Amino acid sequence: MTDRNADLFERAKALIPGGVNSPVRAFRAVGGTPRFVQRAQGAHFWDANGKRHIDYIGSWGPMILGHGHPAVLDAVQKAATDGFSFGAPTEREVELAEAIVDLVPSIEMVRLVSSGTEAGMSTIRLARGATGRKKIIKFEGCYHGHADALLVKAGSGLATFGNPTSAGVPPEVVQHTLVLEYNNVAQLDAAFAEHGADIACLIIEPIAGNMNFVRASVPFMTRCRELCTQHGALLAFDEVMTGFRVALGGAQSVYAKLIPGFEPDMTVMGKVIGGGMPLAAFGGKRAVMEQLAPLGPVYQAGTLSGNPVATACGLATLAEIRKPGFFDALSARTRSLVDGLQAEARKAGVPFSADSEGGMFGFFLLPELPQHYQAVMKTDGAVFNKLFHGLLDRGVYIAPALYEAGFVSAAHSAQDIEETLAAAAQVFGALR
Ligand SMILES: *Cc1c(COP(=O)(O)O)cnc(C)c1O
Repeated sequence: MTDRNADLFERAKALIPGGVNSPVRAFRAVGGTPRFVQRAQGAHFWDANGKRHIDYIGSWGPMILGHGHPAVLDAVQKAATDGFSFGAPTEREVELAEAIVDLVPSIEMVRLVSSGTEAGMSTIRLARGATGRKKIIKFEGCYHGHADALLVKAGSGLATFGNPTSAGVPPEVVQHTLVLEYNNVAQLDAAFAEHGADIACLIIEPIAGNMNFVRASVPFMTRCRELCTQHGALLAFDEVMTGFRVALGGAQSVYAKLIPGFEPDMTVMGKVIGGGMPLAAFGGKRAVMEQLAPLGPVYQAGTLSGNPVATACGLATLAEIRKPGFFDALSARTRSLVDGLQAEARKAGVPFSADSEGGMFGFFLLPELPQHYQAVMKTDGAVFNKLFHGLLDRGVYIAPALYEAGFVSAAHSAQDIEETLAAAAQVFGALR
């Protein structure tokens, strides 16, 4: 039988670097041939060989309703009929801004862009412009898009500035980016003690989804807030992954329940907000947001920003997830997956830990949930790869790398979860 995935990958590799338009799709961490997606519906997609997969990636988060939700499809088709892009303002941009401000209390004003990368990059520029400071803090294992200043790993010592993680980024460009260990309060204290007056912002994934799934501890998050307030730095939540995904109000609403009065100053959003279309946003307090052009001196722009088809998709998606009970049902379904995996792993004697919030989950082939990147990376990659391919062979598609989170959609049925657990039981059994 011809393997159309393999044929397409060969054609792709001749023309597109690595055969893909975003690196993790290439399966380099796990080996094997990427699946080329032909079509998708609900919780499933079909690859180029016509094989069905239960999809736990959902375009890396956006597809919270599953694929091809009828109300979203209808909104997108209508919007497309009215025009693809105008380069002039539209009513739906106002409606989407109203919805965001309504759902996320810390946001008073918002600007729409087309990718999480743009939103993160613009947030950093705005924070620097608004504070008149240069330095930023980020955490190892958190991803904020591929802007130059954020492609950085920790330097040699505590509270030293970082080194580029990509060729093409001169060290000078990351010289103001301080990289700290996630959930490490002592390092955070030391960094602010030394550089506090120069720090424009601290950017963080509140529940990190780019080192699998790691929650910021409550004492750590409390300290982030205290130190930013005390030193006049902006606390920027990168909720590109967690926004409208872990809860209707994002991860900040989860922390607001644990830390009385908690709010970030700035929020970066993407993924679910566009429902699968290129749409992202950043927002925060009015006084900061008014520093943006054309009101203020911080430049930021985009030909396709607030695109009318993308805003229609985002609005229709938000309208569905706002319905009463949506997140309760999604959380319960996700929890049933995570608990089921845990039970199957225990039966098979495989070291395992797992966590979830709303429709986002992570699991580790480690006996305890890791608290930072270095701990995540202690996972045995060879065992993870066996698990990945075992599931893939059985039609269960999880992220092809051990440092990525997973996503459940509202379209995942109890039967999808059951099939997944049956496949996992077989694969765990073979791992021993
Ligand atoms: C995906 C992601 C980004 C980048 O968004 P793109 O739309 O891929 O540019 C930024 N931050 C976080 C937390 C993400 O998960």
